[in-house]
Amino acid sequence: MNKFYLFFALLIVLSGGALFHFQYVGNSVDANVNSRQESPGFNSLFDEIKKITAEASKPPVLPDTESKVPVVMYHYVRIVDKVKDPLGYDLSINPTDFEKQMKYLKDQGYTTIHLEDLLDKKVPKKAIVLSFDDGLEDFYTTALPILQKYGFTASDAVITGMIGQHEHMTNDQIRECIKAGIEITSHTVTHFDMSKLTKEQLHKQLAESKSYLEKTFGIKVDGFIYPSGRYNDLAVQTVKDEGYKIAATTKYGEADLAKDNILLLPRVRIDNRDSYNGFVKKLERVEESKK
Ligand SMILES: [Zn+2]
Repeated sequence: MNKFYLFFALLIVLSGGALFHFQYVGNSVDANVNSRQESPGFNSLFDEIKKITAEASKPPVLPDTESKVPVVMYHYVRIVDKVKDPLGYDLSINPTDFEKQMKYLKDQGYTTIHLEDLLDKKVPKKAIVLSFDDGLEDFYTTALPILQKYGFTASDAVITGMIGQHEHMTNDQIRECIKAGIEITSHTVTHFDMSKLTKEQLHKQLAESKSYLEKTFGIKVDGFIYPSGRYNDLAVQTVKDEGYKIAATTKYGEADLAKDNILLLPRVRIDNRDSYNGFVKKLERVEESKK
């Protein structure tokens, strides 16, 4: 039906063109311009065709996209004794619970995407970013095999000054993660509180970590995660100045790409305190917020 309409419009343009040519030959250029201005019929048809052409060149509106997306925040995926290490317990998710959560996402039809995919401002329906902070070794040894079992990807924020040190991934492990399709973002060099740094210190933390990751692994690093979620105006401005395109905090909530500052995206924290039911409830609340 659309094709027929376009064909019909084309036919009118061609016959209009022929008329135009006839007038041009018969009159001076000025007279011809005048005749066009005086003829409302010709003008409106001309406008209509311009409109049709403009409509046809617009990108198609995809009905299966949305602007709200949960960016889940994990740290350790390990077994921790709650009594002996309460702080560590709150920063961890038990591997069994983590696997149950991934199975839930699979069963519910979620698609895992990267932080940088949010730059499009539209994501597929039921998209989710699984973000892990600190470049911890158990991401490689424990989380990655589970993610791969469910065909999922994730994003890991690496502290470049901690690579290969206690509980943190080595360069080789990070390389394996990248080969497996994991997104690597920067989490500074030393995990300092960014709200307390000078412009020069911020520059060092942001530029050095970015260039280290890019040079060592041959990747482009557009994403940044604020250590402990701390920042001020100067920190956000420097993140931007150093060439990062997207950044996330620890502020709680789903990201709304239509409204949120792309350099201050909130996240949905998940740890042992949520267990399986808490995880489900938090995601159900995000789905509810989309209605
Ligand atoms: Zn951190």
